[in-house]
Amino acid sequence: MWSSRVAIIGGGIAGCSVARGLAKKGMKPVVFEMGRGLGGRTATRRSREDSMVAIDHGAPAFHATSAEFLNLIHRLRKSGHVEDWKGVRGEMRAGGEFKMSAGNMLSMYVGRGGMSSVCEGLIAELDVETRFQTMIKSFAYDEQEEKRGNWMLTDRKGESLGEFGWIVATSSSLLHNRWTKIYGGPPPLLHAAKEVGMKGIHTVTSLENNPVFVVMMGFDSSHSPALNALPADMIEVTHSDTLSKVVRQTRPGMVPSLVLHSTIPFAQKSVMTHGRGGTAELMGAKNKTTDENKVKSAILSAFEQEVCRPLGINFDLSETDKAVYGPALHRWGSAFPGNVPEIEVPLSMVDGSARIAIAGDFLARPGGNVEQACLSGLEAAEEIYKIYNSAAK
Ligand SMILES: Cc1cc2nc3c(=O)[nH]c(=O)nc-3n(C[C@H](O)[C@H](O)[C@H](O)COP(=O)(O)OP(=O)(O)OC[C@H]3O[C@@H](n4cnc5c(N)ncnc54)[C@H](O)[C@@H]3O)c2cc1C
Repeated sequence: MWSSRVAIIGGGIAGCSVARGLAKKGMKPVVFEMGRGLGGRTATRRSREDSMVAIDHGAPAFHATSAEFLNLIHRLRKSGHVEDWKGVRGEMRAGGEFKMSAGNMLSMYVGRGGMSSVCEGLIAELDVETRFQTMIKSFAYDEQEEKRGNWMLTDRKGESLGEFGWIVATSSSLLHNRWTKIYGGPPPLLHAAKEVGMKGIHTVTSLENNPVFVVMMGFDSSHSPALNALPADMIEVTHSDTLSKVVRQTRPGMVPSLVLHSTIPFAQKSVMTHGRGGTAELMGAKNKTTDENKVKSAILSAFEQEVCRPLGINFDLSETDKAVYGPALHRWGSAFPGNVPEIEVPLSMVDGSARIAIAGDFLARPGGNVEQACLSGLEAAEEIYKIYNSAAK
């Protein structure tokens, strides 16, 4: 019988949802995350120098539409990990007029104290082991066994991380050749899935992933009149080559912050620039630092010209010198999955004979959101447990 230990690669919403589902059934999930903590694209950037800095530089907030997810969010609100987002949303054509968003009628939610607490809440008080700053570089069956044995995992230094009955991969980067460019070596999931002949893997590899840059800054409120003057907390910007979203975050007792999201085409132009202080740098990704300032100033200038000026807001670029944090650049290499309507993909993929599962927002349709990532993870956990349980009988 295979081990009941399940290696979950990725401590984002999908990975934590898988861990939650499995731990509740008595299985032994271990979450491996290459970043410093839980969250993935719902991570909260913190500063070692200033404990008042907590910036949600990925998803700033999220919707809940299905009954299953709403129920879970209700529980996470009760446990103090999630709260209602109290901001105001607006829309603006670059260089044009601002209007309030019709979407203001729909409730949105945030992690309490930072988006990363959504993931923390998903596994709170459950028997889930977490290992941070651990990048899974490869996995293969135990060669000692005659049949397919347990999975053996290896980290980027080539050290063994132990044996597991199942592998659950929750990041599309594990499948794409982009992995080789950034970290070197074959994409671990693609390599293993081909070796074991995992069904449906080609469907997943053909899915696109779209990058986004963000520039984030934390201000002492008296030093950023522009931040205070913005007419909404979240502004969707249309018709801009550079800017897609402007997010103002204000939390009691914390430094107010501004996060500028780039458009996808803008981020596609600088593939090898990652920014500092993020997971890519931590894991030694190849980084083209020379482009960093160019990317940052293009995004800041677009904010000044396309948003502030038409609104009559004076955003002096020298204001950024007074930022208590940043301006810092971060590249989300797979910020949003490309929705390819002609490709049908399941919410999660579970191959019981290979004992590999895949979950994450890149599978779900329409993907690219917290709710789908969570539902994908919960579904994968359910299916793994069913297979494990029937094999154990
Ligand atoms: C800028 C931005 C804005 C967004 N806005 C919204 C929004 O408004 N509303 C909304 O609902 N959603 C939004 N999203 C999308 C939302 O954040 C994602 O859909 C969701 O967080 C995806 O979760 P996930 O677990 O599937 O993937 P991820 O969060 O990407 O988790 C995968 C994890 O795997 C880790 N990992 C990868 N490879 C390895 C390895 N080899 N070893 C160990 N760990 C590894 C990664 O570090 C990462 O933490 C936004 C995303 C971004 C980037």
